[in-house]
Amino acid sequence: MTEEAKVFSITTPLYYANAPFHLGHAYSTYVCDTLTRFYRALGYETYFITGSDEHGEKIKQSAESHGFSPQEWTDKVVEDGKKLWDRCGIEYSYFVRTTQRKPQDHYLDVQRFFKRIFDRGDIYLGAYEGLYCVGCEKYLTEKDLVDGKCLEHDTEPVAMSEPCLFFKLSKWAPVVLEMLEAEPERVQPESRRNEILSKLKAGVVDLAVSRTKLDWGIPLDDIEPGHVCYVWFDALLGYATAAGLGNHLDELDKFEADPSYEIKPTRFAKFWPHCVHVTAKDILWFHTVIWPAMLLAAELDPVDRKKYVTTGTYSHGYLLERGRKMSKSIGNILDPYPYLDLLGSDPLRFYLLREVAFGEDGSINHEAIAERTNADLANDLGNLLNRTLAMIEKDAGGMIPAEGPKNS
Ligand SMILES: [Zn+2]
Repeated sequence: MTEEAKVFSITTPLYYANAPFHLGHAYSTYVCDTLTRFYRALGYETYFITGSDEHGEKIKQSAESHGFSPQEWTDKVVEDGKKLWDRCGIEYSYFVRTTQRKPQDHYLDVQRFFKRIFDRGDIYLGAYEGLYCVGCEKYLTEKDLVDGKCLEHDTEPVAMSEPCLFFKLSKWAPVVLEMLEAEPERVQPESRRNEILSKLKAGVVDLAVSRTKLDWGIPLDDIEPGHVCYVWFDALLGYATAAGLGNHLDELDKFEADPSYEIKPTRFAKFWPHCVHVTAKDILWFHTVIWPAMLLAAELDPVDRKKYVTTGTYSHGYLLERGRKMSKSIGNILDPYPYLDLLGSDPLRFYLLREVAFGEDGSINHEAIAERTNADLANDLGNLLNRTLAMIEKDAGGMIPAEGPKNS
C-alpha cells in the first residue's frame, strides 16, 4: 500500500475446505475485514479477498470419509463458510474458490500461468523420489512417520519415484532473498522475517509442482499428460485469480503478440501491486518465498518483473484454546457459533483483535472473554457513552452540538 495511490488490497489465507471453518479462520478473517474497514475510512479504494483452497489428497480423503465426492464436499464446506462470514459481518470483495470456473476461471488462469513459466524455461520435467505409503496413497514427510512407519497405517512406506514437473525455485530464491533484505516490510513481524531469511540463506532446492498419483487437481495435460498441478501452486494463484489475473494475462498475450499494443489498465494491475497477505505462521514460507518466486518467473510485466510481486505478508500467531493449538486429534477445534451466540459478532471481533497481540499467539477462554467484555465494553466504553448522552441532555438540550475547534 502506498499513500499516493490510496489503494489497498488484502487477502486472508484461502482456507483448506477439508473441514468446516473454525474460530481460527474467523480470527484471520476479522483481522482482514477490520483492516479493510480502516483503510476505507481513510478514503482508500479497497479490495478484500478471501476464499477456499479445494484440491489435493486431504480434500479427497475427507470427502470420501463423509460419503461425498470432493466437489460435493467442498460445495458444502464453502456454503457453510459463507454463511458464517455473513453472521460475522465480514464484507469481502471477492470469495474465490479454487474449483471455480466462473466468473473468473481459476483452472484456466492456473494453466496459463503455469504455461508462462514453462515457456520461459523455469519449469522442467524430472523425477520425484520419496517414501510412498500405499494405504495413504501419498508420499510421506518426516512428520507423517514414527519409527520409520506411517503414523496412520503403522506400515513401512516404500521408496518410489515418479515423473514430476519441477519449478526452478533455486534460480529465483536469490532474487527473493535480495528483495526481502532490501524491504523489511515484505515479511512481518521481524522474528518471522529472520526465520525466513535464515532458511533462504541455508539453500533452496527446486519445487515439485505436479503430481501423477492424484486426480483431484487442475490438469496440466497441455504440458505433461496425466499430471495435475501441486495443490499449493494452485492455491496461491487463487489470490491472483480473485484479483483478475485472467484479464491481465489477456493483455500480456496481446502485447506479446504485438509489441506496439498498449496494455490496458485492469483490476489486477490496479490492486495487485498494493496487495498484502495475512497468513498464519505455518504457511509463511509459501507466501514469502515460493509465491514471489512464481510471480517473478511468470514475468507479469514486460519491463519490471518485480512490479507484480505482492507488497508484503503479515503473519499472525495461532488462536489457542486454553494455551493449546487447535487440533482435530486433541478434539479442541473451536466452533465460532457458540461465541457468536453468546457475544454477538462485534464483541467477538473486539475480543479477538483486542486480546490477541497481532503476530503473537493468543488464547481464548470464557473467563477472558467475560473480563474483556465487562471491563472494556460494558464499563469503559459503556460508561463513556452514558456520560456523553447525559452531557448532551444536560448541556446541549438533547441535541448533538456542532463540531467545535479541535484540541490538539
Ligand atoms: Zn499410510
